[in-house]
Amino acid sequence: MIIEDVLVRVECPVCGHRLMDKGDKAAGPVQTKCTKCKRVWEVELSTEEFKQVSGKPIARRKGDSDSP
Ligand SMILES: [Zn+2]
Repeated sequence: MIIEDVLVRVECPVCGHRLMDKGDKAAGPVQTKCTKCKRVWEVELSTEEFKQVSGKPIARRKGDSDSP
């Protein structure tokens, strides 16, 4: 009997770069750094909840030129 590991792609929530592959039974927090946008994430593997540890804050709007 062959049991295949099912790997799920975990992508950076900001730039979509692949951070890692995880097994479908993986759980627990891991810290990983996105090599593209250089942000460091703490990911809870069971829920795929991302928490940013360091790096630039997530830009929610285009530019930041509202103030003179
Ligand atoms: Zn990224």
